[in-house]
Amino acid sequence: MTQLDGKIALVTGGSRGIGREIATRLAADGALVAVHYGTNKAAAEETVTRIAQSGGQAFTVGAELGIPGDARALWAAFDAGLHRIGIEPGLDILVNNAGVTGSSDLAGTTEAEFDRIFAVNVKAPFFILQQGIERLRDNGRVINISSGVTRIASPALVTYSLTKGAINTLSHTLAKQLGERGITVNAVAPGIVDVDSNAGWLRDDPEQLAVWGSFSPVNRVGQPSDIAGAVAFLASDDSRWITGQYLDATGGAHL
Ligand code: NDP
Repeated sequence: MTQLDGKIALVTGGSRGIGREIATRLAADGALVAVHYGTNKAAAEETVTRIAQSGGQAFTVGAELGIPGDARALWAAFDAGLHRIGIEPGLDILVNNAGVTGSSDLAGTTEAEFDRIFAVNVKAPFFILQQGIERLRDNGRVINISSGVTRIASPALVTYSLTKGAINTLSHTLAKQLGERGITVNAVAPGIVDVDSNAGWLRDDPEQLAVWGSFSPVNRVGQPSDIAGAVAFLASDDSRWITGQYLDATGGAHL
């Protein structure tokens, strides 16, 4: 028996990047995983196939985030997915991972860009949580993906940094509310990670890879599996006494 046998997990943005690796890891640890995507259904299906090929169980959940009614649509798709495979609505592990970055400093940020990043990175997880609480079983886990930019000042990503600061505060605040049910709420903050969407300027450019890697004493950039490992720990029973915390998963960048 593995650690998460019998548990149900939802990973937002589980179709690609860090989320795909988190979904794959939680499934390998025994959870039934709902792999959420926004627009790239094929990528989500690929994640589900990878999980199935390794003997795990998963299904896709499609819902664009950052638009009115997004959380409602996500939970409707989640419930429908469980219903299709004959499982009662319920949830043990919620990983709020989906996010967008944006790339503007203070002067270059438009109101529309500001609103968009907040809508996807803050408003969506907020209402996903609000509407998901009733599904979350006692002793459940909420893991919110933050970013190292909340510790390492990054003026070129000011709006994004603000959204992740809000995620840290949300984690800390809800940990107090949900603790009485044994539910823990924590934030995991990756540093720069080698995901496909960073390939063009990072993975494929040895110079950038060396520069970004040198910020960590381990002298490399993060891999999605590094983050999935941290999330898997917080999803497990071994982390039951840890809540309201910010877990720096930057490989010690800029210590
Ligand atoms: P990717 O760009 O590789 O993947 C993003 C995922 O989020 C996809 O599954 C995507 O779905 C989903 N998503 C994005 N926008 C929306 C939306 N509007 N509606 C629904 N789904 C959406 O992201 P990463 O793996 O790089 O990042 C994952 C998390 O980690 C984010 O919260 C990010 O801020 C954080 N992070 C990442 C770092 C990095 O270096 N990569 C560093 C620090 C933090 P779809 O496939 O449908 O597009």
